[in-house]
Amino acid sequence: MSSVLVFTEFTNGQLKKGALELLSAARKSGLKVQALAVGAGAKSLVAQLGLEGVDEAFVADSGALDKYNSELFTEIVSGVLSSKKPAVVLASSTSLARDLFPRVAARIGTGVASDCTELEISSAGDVKARRPMYAGKCSAEVSFESSTTKIVLMRPNQLSVTPASAGKTPAVTEVAVPAKDLATIVKEVVKGTSGKLDLTEANIIVSGGRGMKEPANFKMLEELADVLGATVGASRAVVDAGWVGHTMQVGQTGKTVAPTLYIACGISGAIQHLAGMSGSKVIVAINKDANAPIFQKATYGIVGDALEVVPKLTEEFKKLLQH
Ligand code: FAD
Repeated sequence: MSSVLVFTEFTNGQLKKGALELLSAARKSGLKVQALAVGAGAKSLVAQLGLEGVDEAFVADSGALDKYNSELFTEIVSGVLSSKKPAVVLASSTSLARDLFPRVAARIGTGVASDCTELEISSAGDVKARRPMYAGKCSAEVSFESSTTKIVLMRPNQLSVTPASAGKTPAVTEVAVPAKDLATIVKEVVKGTSGKLDLTEANIIVSGGRGMKEPANFKMLEELADVLGATVGASRAVVDAGWVGHTMQVGQTGKTVAPTLYIACGISGAIQHLAGMSGSKVIVAINKDANAPIFQKATYGIVGDALEVVPKLTEEFKKLLQH
């Protein structure tokens, strides 16, 4: 029977939300659902994978996989795909997957559709996906010419998470970590200190642009984000000005996000910014200029000074969420 294999990223022993979205899509296809978890602690995911309706789990678990290494992960993932030949492979379009899967695809001789926003898998294992092009000005439907394994990287927050109707006890295969002379070794990964979700996974984002006037005013955005459980993002103008780090940049040359709620504060809405956030479900724009292009994309617009509006919103949300 054809299968859909989901590359399940995880953090702190828990499947990431993107993985849950992909597992829901895989179950919906009616095909056999396989999961591949690679990393230190991957074995501990088996029970969760069972609850998500996974039939077969492949786990590569070793201290050597504690930090992402392109060579090792490529070796492991291409090994599993060449031997199991799933009809479809799904992964979230994270920076890890965008580094890994083109290498894997080259190894196994197939193609990758990355950064997809819509997905249909037929019961025969055929795939139709849609991905934005030209900074979101249009989108293309993507299908695969060959019938071999099709790899699709989906933007997080595009597919809904549905609970599995029944849990399963997956058949578990432990995948050995190859002994390999590595050309590169990752010695240290320096993580951001905020402890907040990465922008690409955040459900709510509060983003600031040049209209915030100066870096110190980003404190206001952090306060609003704290109340809402949101992550703070930024336009390129303020990243280039050195107000905040590049990891916070949303847009064509930054991160592509698709939260449920995106609050744009003092951001004009240039096409390159919209390219990274127009997939947000609800967009709230706060801008002094009623003609700012961001209002054309916004679900709700507030014409006003962000430096006055943001603290007021923070107070109101505080009151609301306390009750
Ligand atoms: P501005 O365009 O200066 O807009 C500031 C806005 O704040 C204005 O609309 C103004 O009315 C409003 N404002 C001013 N004061 C207040 C106030 N007190 N309260 C409320 N509103 C106020 N940009 C990105 O964001 N991400 C990208 O990834 C990106 N990639 C790019 C790639 C290329 C190749 C190029 C050429 C450009 C890219 N840009 C990107 C830059 C983009 O074109 C814009 O220059 C940038 O997005 C503008 O940032 P901004 O909206 O913060 O600033």
